[in-house]
This record gives sequence, C-alpha cells and structure tokens, in this order.
Amino acid sequence: MVLSFTPHTISLRRTFSLASGSRNSTPAVLVEVEQDGLIGYGEAALPPSLGEDQESVTSFLEDVSLPAAFMPDDLKDVLVRIDAQAPGNSAAKAGVDIALHDWMGKAIGLPCFRMWGLDPSRTPASSFTVATHDVAALDEVLADGLGFEILKVKLGQGDDRAIMTAIRQRTSSPIRVDVNQGWSRREDALEMCEWLAERNVELVEQPFLKTKMEDTAWLARRSPLPIIVDESAVRLSDVEALAGNVHGINVKLMKCTGVAEARKMIERAHAFGLKAMLGCMTETSCAISAAAQIGCMADWVDLDGAVLTSNDPFVGARLQGGRIMPRDLPGIGVVKKDKRMPEATHR
Ligand code: MG
Repeated sequence: MVLSFTPHTISLRRTFSLASGSRNSTPAVLVEVEQDGLIGYGEAALPPSLGEDQESVTSFLEDVSLPAAFMPDDLKDVLVRIDAQAPGNSAAKAGVDIALHDWMGKAIGLPCFRMWGLDPSRTPASSFTVATHDVAALDEVLADGLGFEILKVKLGQGDDRAIMTAIRQRTSSPIRVDVNQGWSRREDALEMCEWLAERNVELVEQPFLKTKMEDTAWLARRSPLPIIVDESAVRLSDVEALAGNVHGINVKLMKCTGVAEARKMIERAHAFGLKAMLGCMTETSCAISAAAQIGCMADWVDLDGAVLTSNDPFVGARLQGGRIMPRDLPGIGVVKKDKRMPEATHR
C-alpha cells in the first residue's frame, strides 16, 4: 500500500471567531492510500488549538510505513503501530485512519457504517456554528446555516449576552453554547448558565480552561443546563475520569486519532453514563464524511465543518432534513470533485 499526502489550505466562508482568536482559513493535509487500483482518502485538519501544523503532519507521515500488501484484517494492528510511532500528532494519525477506513470499505464494497452494522437513519440533527460576535454580520451568518435546525454559538468573547440577545431576536431555534474555555469565574458562569437556560439553550460546552476540572465539576453540579467538555476530553483515556464530573463529552476525529478511537470513545462515554457529542473542526467533506459514518452513535451531532468552508475538494456527506447524512457509497462515501460520482451500492 502506498501512502501520499498534500498540504491544503481550507478557506473559510467567513471569519471564524472564538475565545482564543479569529481566522479565515484552516491548514490541512490531504492523505491518500492506494493499493489494487483503489484510493482511500483521508484528511488532517489543523486548527491552531490542536498544536499541529502542515510541517509536523508531513514529517509524521513521512515516517509511517504501511504493509506492502495491506489486508483489511491488518487495520487494527497498523493503527496501533502508527499511534505508538510518536505521542501527540492526533490529526496526522486521523488522516491515515480515515484513508485506511475509506480504502477498506472500498475493498470490501460497503460503506463503513454498513460494515459496522450502524443505521444512519438514527443520526441526530446537526448544529450549525455561529462563530461571530459581529451583530451586523449576523443575518448573513444565519443565512449560511439555512437547512440546519439547531445552532451552536461560540461564546466566551466578552459580550456573550449581546450576541445571544441579537440571535434570539432573529431565531427561536434551539442553541448549544460553546465557550471554548473562555469563562473564568465560576459564580459568573453559573449566573450565565441560568440566564441561558431561559433562552432555549440545550447545553454549555467547555466553560473553563481544560485544566480547571474542579471549577467545571462545580458548575456541572449546579447548572440547570448540561455541561459538556471538548478540550478536556481529547482521547479514550480521558473519558473515565470525566464520569460523574460533567454531563458529556465532545468527540472529534482530529483530537482522538480517527474513526476507530472515536467509536470507542462514544461507547466508553455511554458505558460511564456520559452523553457524547460527535463534533468536528473546520474540515473538508473528507473528514466530515468519515465522522458521518458514526453520527448515529452520538447523542448530539455537530458536523457542519465543511459547510463553513468555500473550497471543499470533495463531495460527500450532505445536509438532509437538518442532519449530516453519509452517502450510500463504499468506504467513507466521498468523491473528489473532479471525479464522477459512482452509483450507490445497495446490498
Ligand atoms: Mg468545542
């Protein structure tokens, strides 16, 4: 099996503003594995918060060695070996994980969700991210989210009540709030949760710094809204310690090294009484389509990443009735935009 990769800059439709800063693009590395005339596509999407960049990813991928003749049974061992190659580098690892799953599905002739016996018709609705505190831009931003029935609003930028009030003047859709570690005082956070609970908000994500677990657990015990964590829940090994301290976790392929571990994280979260959101970074339809394979395992889905971009090289999972649905095609169900869409498989 041959591995190749190309740096790619994901352009965003609009400036993306979080508590940690703003950006107009997300660096990425597109990954391909090829064997027996089949190509598996993968992607490492690299928002600054991950701490990886195109150089670190290409350098990691240069050291990855895949079996000359890869068999589907090799997948588990190969992924374990790649994970052990170096600590961190989660997005780089996810790039290979996604490409191998795509290739494997194509080799077997089934969409990944079908290989795993998953039923995409049970996929929950996805939220659409509002990452602006510019009230003047709000109408346009909300128009981008046409077809989504739930919003995810980025708070923690200082003027939280103003942007929430402006959004509520425009829509009554359910809102999930993501603070991205932006709040600091727990009493203020509790007051804010109580204020949000009166405004059709479903949950609050990552209120405090990822290391402030005592404050997070304090808030979770008192908040009228579920408190879930994202930056504090990176990999499978983080899940157990969060049980009893928060209500749920946000699982993302780029944080946890890919689809194989994401499935385990959701299962472990449920085993420990936690709810699981399946989230994403700003990504192309490649990584989004990989995540969409397991959307039906999650309690909440936030897979709007590709909708926020303007130069998606892939066609894949799509918005249907407010949900991001995988295509019924082998592997992760993506096609490069310059290639013809194959016929759907039905078995
Ligand atoms: Mg988040």
